[in-house]
Amino acid sequence: MRSGIADACRAAARDPEDVTLIVVTKFHPAALVAALAALGVRDVGENRHQEAQAKAEELEHLGLDWHFIGQLQTKKARQAARYASAIHSIDRERLVAALADVDREIDAFVQINLTDDPGRGGVSPDGIEALAEQVLAAPGLRLRGVMSVAPLEEEPARAFERLAGYSERVRALDPAASAISAGMTHDYREAIAHGATHLRIGSAITGKRPEHR
Ligand SMILES: *Cc1c(COP(=O)(O)O)cnc(C)c1O
Repeated sequence: MRSGIADACRAAARDPEDVTLIVVTKFHPAALVAALAALGVRDVGENRHQEAQAKAEELEHLGLDWHFIGQLQTKKARQAARYASAIHSIDRERLVAALADVDREIDAFVQINLTDDPGRGGVSPDGIEALAEQVLAAPGLRLRGVMSVAPLEEEPARAFERLAGYSERVRALDPAASAISAGMTHDYREAIAHGATHLRIGSAITGKRPEHR
């Protein structure tokens, strides 16, 4: 995986040091996360609160950075904020309001919907500035940048090109909010080519996920 990332960075004339690999461990047991940690993995991604909370509690002694990458219910937000060092799925004002005054600073990524389907996760592009401004005003949140999942029905490169434009709009509000969380097993090369700084990669590293309910 590391060599694939290094190759894609070289092709894009980017420094691999500027790309953080988050290993997505959803549906896998805590033992697998512990094994990854023993190999040097520090950043892990989870998309369901209950599962993430259980693993983070069990593995608290490892001091890992837990990235929450899935849809987050408003009423679960404060619980997630206890173990998550970053939340990549900030997609609505009520969620920001729920996290605004948590007592540890959390890295926040505004999730953007790259499809025309309002049912998909993320804020629609016309709502980016309002949501980002709200995050900037929240003492418990540190705006890091944008996050997205490439739509299935589109070339990932085209979708990530749009995301890079949205990232520029967020950077216009705060130059420090320059992170782009994008790129999964099948599209990380395209994401790197379009400026991704945080890759969320699961199955390429962990193998096939166990069946889930
Ligand atoms: C599961 C998941 C990933 C990782 O997907 P892979 O295809 O296994 O690399 C990345 N991002 C999100 C939001 C996910 O839910």
